[in-house]
Amino acid sequence: MNEINGLAVYAAGAHLLPYKFDAGELKPNEVAIRISHCGVCHSDVHLIDNDWGFSKYPFIPGHEIVGRVIAAGADVRDRVVGERVGVGWQADSCGICEWCRQGDEHLCLKSQPTCVGRNGGYADMVRVNSRFAIPVPEVLESENVAPLLCGGITVYSPLRNHGVRPSSRVGVIGIGGLGHIGLQFARAFGAEVTAFSTSKDKEAEAKTLGAHHFVNTRDTAALKKVSGSFDFLLCTVSADQDWQGYVNALRPKGTLCVVGASPSAMQILPFSLISGQKAVAGSPTGSPRDLHEMLDVAARHGIKAITERFAMSAANEAVAKVKKNQVRYRAVLTN
Ligand code: NAP
Ligand code: ZN
Repeated sequence: MNEINGLAVYAAGAHLLPYKFDAGELKPNEVAIRISHCGVCHSDVHLIDNDWGFSKYPFIPGHEIVGRVIAAGADVRDRVVGERVGVGWQADSCGICEWCRQGDEHLCLKSQPTCVGRNGGYADMVRVNSRFAIPVPEVLESENVAPLLCGGITVYSPLRNHGVRPSSRVGVIGIGGLGHIGLQFARAFGAEVTAFSTSKDKEAEAKTLGAHHFVNTRDTAALKKVSGSFDFLLCTVSADQDWQGYVNALRPKGTLCVVGASPSAMQILPFSLISGQKAVAGSPTGSPRDLHEMLDVAARHGIKAITERFAMSAANEAVAKVKKNQVRYRAVLTN
C-alpha cells in the first residue's frame, strides 16, 4: 500500500522508465487513490523537457487523474473509501492564507502541484490532500472526464471569470487537448464561437464541438480578415504566436487571455491595447470549488474530452504523439 509504481523521467527530454518509491505513512489529511486513468497534458511534456526550467528529476508526470479512494487519513471527513475522484494540477495548498480562506486555493503561494516536486499520475497510485480529490459525477465516464481535471478547468475558469455570455464573440486558439474542450464550454456559455487552428483537417470536428466558424491560422491573410471581431480570445497554444495579430483581432474592450504556456516572451505594442481599451490576461487552472462547478456543468451539458486511449505502459508513445500534434484530442493512459 505504501509502495507506488509508476513511470518517471530521469533527465530533461528523456524517455519514461519504471520507477517505484515508498510513499511512507498516509498523512491525516490525505487520501490514497488507485488510479484508473490519467490524461497526458502538454504541461507534462513541458515538464518532461524542462521547458519552464524548474523540473526536478526523477519525477512521475501526470495531473489529470481519475481513480478510486482506497484509504483515507485519520482527519479526512470529506471523502470516503471506494469513492471515484479526480485530481488535477493541484495536490495541496497551505489552507490558511488569504487566497485559501476565500476559496481560491489555486492562487495560494504555497500551492503544491501534483507532479512538480512530487510524483503524479503516470502510476498505479497517488496521494493528495483530500480537498483536492474532487468527486466525479456518476454520468461522466472516467476516460472522458480525466482530461477535464486540468484541460477542462483551464478553459472553463477564464470563460466564467471574464463573463462570457450569449452576446460574446469568442475565439479559441489551438484546437488540441484544451482547445477542443474550450469550444464546448464556450458554446455552453452561449457565445458565438470561432476555432483558430493550424490544422485544416480539424475544421469539421471543431464545428461539431461547438464552433460556428473556423480560421486557418496557417493563412496569414485569414487572421487579418477577422481584425476587430472578438470580445474574448482564449489562446491554448503551447508555442509562440502572432500576439499582435490576435490583439488586432479584438473588438474594443476585448481581452486576449493566455492559458497556453509558451516559454517565450509576448511581443505586443502598448498603443494597440490603449486605443481600444483592450486587455491581455493569463489564467491558471482553478480551485476545488471551480472544479466541482466545472464537472457539474460538464455533466449537465454533455461536455467531455475526445480521447485516444493508451495503456499506462505505452506512455512514451502517447507523449511522442502529443509532441507531434497527432493526438485527437487528448491521450489518456489507463491502468
Ligand atoms: P496540445 O494538446 O498539444 O494542444 C495544443 C494545440 O496548439 C495543438 O493541438 C495545436 O492546435 C496548437 N499548436 C501546437 N503547436 C503550435 C504551433 N507551433 N503554432 C500554432 N499552433 C500550435 O496541448 P494542451 O494540453 O492543450 O496544452 C496547451 C498549452 O496549455 C500547453 O502550453 C500547456 O502547458 C498549457 N496549459 C496551461 C494550463 C494553465 O493552467 N494555464 C493548464 C493546462 C495546460 P491546432 O492543430 O488546432 O493548431
Ligand atoms: Zn495540465
